[in-house]
Formats: sequence, C-alpha cells, structure tokens
Amino acid sequence: MVDLLPAQSKGWQKVESIAIKHFSRAGINEIRTPIIEQTELFLRGIGENTDVVGKEMYSFDDRGGRSCTLRPEGTASVARSIVQHGLLNNGPQRLWYRGPMFRYERPQAGRQRQFHQIGVEFVGLSSVMSDAEVISIAWDFLKDVGLVDLTLEINSLGSNEDRNVFKEELKNWLNLRFDLLDEDSQKRINVNPLRILDSKNNSTKELLYEAPSLNDFLSKKSKIRFDSLLDLLDKLKIPYKINNNLVRGLDYYSHTAFEITSDHLGSQATVCGGGRYDGLISELGGPKTPSIGWAIGMERLIILAGEKILESKSPDIYVIYRGEKAEQLALEITCQLRSFNLKIELDYSGSSFSKQFKRADKSRAKWALTIGEDEASKGQLLMKKLRDKSKDVENNEYIFLKEDLDQLIKKLID
Ligand code: ATP
Ligand code: MG
Repeated sequence: MVDLLPAQSKGWQKVESIAIKHFSRAGINEIRTPIIEQTELFLRGIGENTDVVGKEMYSFDDRGGRSCTLRPEGTASVARSIVQHGLLNNGPQRLWYRGPMFRYERPQAGRQRQFHQIGVEFVGLSSVMSDAEVISIAWDFLKDVGLVDLTLEINSLGSNEDRNVFKEELKNWLNLRFDLLDEDSQKRINVNPLRILDSKNNSTKELLYEAPSLNDFLSKKSKIRFDSLLDLLDKLKIPYKINNNLVRGLDYYSHTAFEITSDHLGSQATVCGGGRYDGLISELGGPKTPSIGWAIGMERLIILAGEKILESKSPDIYVIYRGEKAEQLALEITCQLRSFNLKIELDYSGSSFSKQFKRADKSRAKWALTIGEDEASKGQLLMKKLRDKSKDVENNEYIFLKEDLDQLIKKLID
C-alpha cells in the first residue's frame, strides 16, 4: 500500500476538482459509502467466480464473528446504499463516488493493493442515450485533464439470454481445445468461460482468434441497441474501437461494456472501465433497475497526466523579514494577505536578506515583501517585483505603510 506524498497530492486535488466540475454540471451528486462492507455483498454483487472475489479480496471476521471485506470496487456499495435507503423512490439516481479500494494483487506500476477510483453510476435509466451520456462524461473529463492518445474500446455483451447461449457454445469450443489452453483458462472453462476471452496469456489469445464471437450470438434487439449507441458516439464525435473480446472482469455486466485505454501505460493500459449492469440492483433485493457506470483508476490517470499536473502554484508573495520587531509584523501581514486569497509564503529563517531573496526567487513567487527592523518600527513595507518586471523601473518597487496594504494589493494584483 502506498503513501500519497505532498509532491503528488496537488495533482490529485487538481484532477478531483476537474472531476467535480464535470459532475456538477451534469447534475451528478456525490455518494460516500463505508470502506468496509459485509463480504456477502460482494459475493452476490460481483460474483464468486470472478478474480476480484475469488482471489483479490481483503476479508476478515470482525469481533462479532461477521465476515467483512475492504471494498474492492465501488459499484456494489453504491447499489446496496441505493436499495437500503430507497433512493429510487425519488427517481433515477445520477451519482459519483471516489475513494480507496483494496485488492490483493501483485503490485507493479499502475497496480496497487490500495488504489483509488473515481466513478459514476446512472441508476434507473435504460435508454441507450444514458450509455452515451455516461461514456461522454468519462471521455470529456479525461480530455479536460489533458490526456491524449486515448482509445475507447467498446463491446456489447447482449442480454442474459444472448450470453447464456453463447457461453454454452464457447464452452464446447474450448473443451475441444482444452490441452491448448493455459492453466488459468482451463480452470475457468466451467465456472466463468467468458473471462477466458479476457486472458492475458499469449498462446491462449492466439487460439481465441478462431473462437466463436459473442457478437454473432446477439439477438436482433441487442444488436440494434448496440448500433444506436455507436451512432450516438459518432454524433458526439467520440472515436471508438469495437473489441469483441472485451468482457470485463465482473459478473454483473450486460449490453454495453467499455474501457478507455492508453498506449502510454504499458501492460496496465486501462484507465477507465465501465458498463451496463441491469441485474445488480435486483440481485441485491431492490426492484429491477437498469443501470450503467464506470470507474477510473486515479493512480493510472495521474501517471498519464504526467509532470504537469503535479506542478504546484507558485506563491503570489514571498515575505522576508529581519529582526525582532519585523517578526511580528511579518506574521500579521502574512495573515492579512492570505485573506485576499493570495498564496503567501513566509520565510522563517532569519538569515541574511540576500539569502532570503535567493529563496524567494527559487519559490518562483511574483513579489517579495520585505520588512527590515527600522522599517518595522515605522510600519513601513517594501514590495519588490521578482518576475515579469516592468520596463518602467518605478513599477517594480513600492514602499508603503502597512495601513495602505489593501490599496496596494488592489493596485498590484488583479
Ligand atoms: P485490470 O484489468 O487492469 O485489473 P480491472 O478490470 O480489474 O482492471 P476495474 O475493476 O474495471 O479494473 O476498475 C476500473 C479501473 O480501476 C481500472 O481500469 C484501473 O484503472 C483501476 N484499477 C483496478 N485495479 C487496480 C489496481 N490494483 N491498482 C490500480 N488501479 C486499479
Ligand atoms: Mg483487475
């Protein structure tokens, strides 16, 4: 598990504030659910034969002997909460969440045991328009963060009925080639054959080129639905690549499944994964409720956003002082300046003015405010421009009284 150090947290805050902007303008409200849930929720919600539940969960018995699990993803918890609080009585729910998730995986670049997701769920909407809208929110958000070279991969998993017919056909096909499959896939044939399509094993991948395709088993209705989604994506100018092997890891998906990937991420290429999960809410005891959502992995997003997103804003003013009298005034002025919503850094070193000026320069502050001992007794301050100096030398330096601070700030900083 990984600490998030100050050098990175700025970038995270920036990304989150962009996300919040996108969510609030789309009328999506935040939901916060507990990090620990009853294990049962994930067994039912995600499915026992998935990797997440079968291999990756952090589960433990609490002191009351109940099996608890650190949430491995957000959707099951959001669905539970919606059912528990009867939120659907108020109509469809458009929700977002963020926070840590836990999976016992092999840590590597872009893969951690505690990682963070930011996600969106549209619950109670069946229209294909909601599929397109949800995808466009993810796409626009990632673009706004500055990511380039993204690919939207998309597939239709059809209805439950479509999938069941296909599963049998695929099972038969795979059983005839049992010896050619990797060990993991051999184990999956009977419990979760669809997941084999998602195999990362190269020889299995090659073999699968010839396998029956889910696409050929979609009913007419499912096909029309998928085609109209692709039409809508064209209208929204979101480029996509149909990937018939995209099945996604969790059991609850139907119809639309999608991932947004990047070539810049190495083998952990997926930054966003999502899809339609029309069966989940009823599986958890609620009414039959069509739903769709996605989750973005924050760590991978930050890797893609690169150095630029991690840069922090330089101070507006760097405050420098020397001497005991100046000390108090420096703190007073610093606090006063912050009330103008300016970023102020106060140098505590007491070292020579020249050393402090060097540090001011290094901080990339726009201005240095200097208070010497003599000036402090007179309540006098010196503001010096450090960057973007004006040709008119007079405009680079101002001596003024502390009572006139308000006026000076209004004059210098818009
Ligand atoms: P992968 O195939 O990479 O394991 P997944 O299908 O298990 O992904 P989802 O459950 O769809 O992932 O989660 C959505 C997103 O969360 C992923 O696309 C990824 O960006 C991020 N994610 C998932 N697991 C991890 C992890 N262990 N560490 C960091 N990010 C993760
Ligand atoms: Mg995974």
